[in-house]
Amino acid sequence: KDFRNSVKPNWCPGCGDFSVQAAIQRAAANVGLVPEELAVISGIGCSGRISGYINSYGFHGIHGRSLPIAQGVKMANKDLTVIASGGDGDGFAIGLGHTIHAIRRNIDVTYIVMDNQIYGLTKGQTSPRSDVGFKTKSTPQGSIESSLSVMEMALTAGATFVAQSFSTDLKDLTALIEKGIQHKGFSLINVFSPCVTYNKVNTYDWFKENLTKLNDIEGYDPHNKVKAMQTLMEHNGLVTGLIYQNTEQKSYQDLVHGYSETPLATSNIELTEEQFNKLVKEFM
Ligand code: SF4
Repeated sequence: KDFRNSVKPNWCPGCGDFSVQAAIQRAAANVGLVPEELAVISGIGCSGRISGYINSYGFHGIHGRSLPIAQGVKMANKDLTVIASGGDGDGFAIGLGHTIHAIRRNIDVTYIVMDNQIYGLTKGQTSPRSDVGFKTKSTPQGSIESSLSVMEMALTAGATFVAQSFSTDLKDLTALIEKGIQHKGFSLINVFSPCVTYNKVNTYDWFKENLTKLNDIEGYDPHNKVKAMQTLMEHNGLVTGLIYQNTEQKSYQDLVHGYSETPLATSNIELTEEQFNKLVKEFM
């Protein structure tokens, strides 16, 4: 089935987000989904527009809140594959609390962050992923704050699936998204997705020079958490591939009593007017 729709993305030519969109569409098709089985929930930012560019259920939410919405959708309808997406400002600044708690909750949602180390939609300010010394309109003398190490943070928060990719590696990125969708629990996929308009430091060439593929590290085992953390620290977080996966831990859905039998979407919630009014009164 085709996950493309007729909406033309209004991202700048060359923006890394185009590849992420293509990878989501390909991965969804490759795992055998049809558009009615996928929901893409996004936050605010250039990347937040992605939910409107994919032929599926979609919800363009509010800043930093794609994950609360995505988790609500998944809890209401377990039969939907739910992808949450947004930028690094969305997920690692205003939405960081939601990110950490969704990770430790291990709810079955795939979260794809388009990480360009800057705020693009608001025309170029420092984000929590910008490096020290990074000059923008908000930091004309260079950022004095250190960059958030998101992959390490995810591991310490108890993530069961942590991966990273580069938007030009379409094949690898697609394969990681497929794995994330198939993972029974929360999967975080951080994608280096260059902002060609405002970030003149972390360019395509810069990433090509600085990224290391985990597949090229002999003996790398994504089931070894200690090794995963060590490798991230040794490479300053600049690695791509499946960093860590734990398939043993149960997902939130597996642990919620009665979830699989009676998700909201298939529950019989027909109420008489009297019952409805009584319910409303209880909440007032
Ligand atoms: Fe992409 Fe940057 Fe343009 Fe936004 S401003 S669409 S992030 S290139």
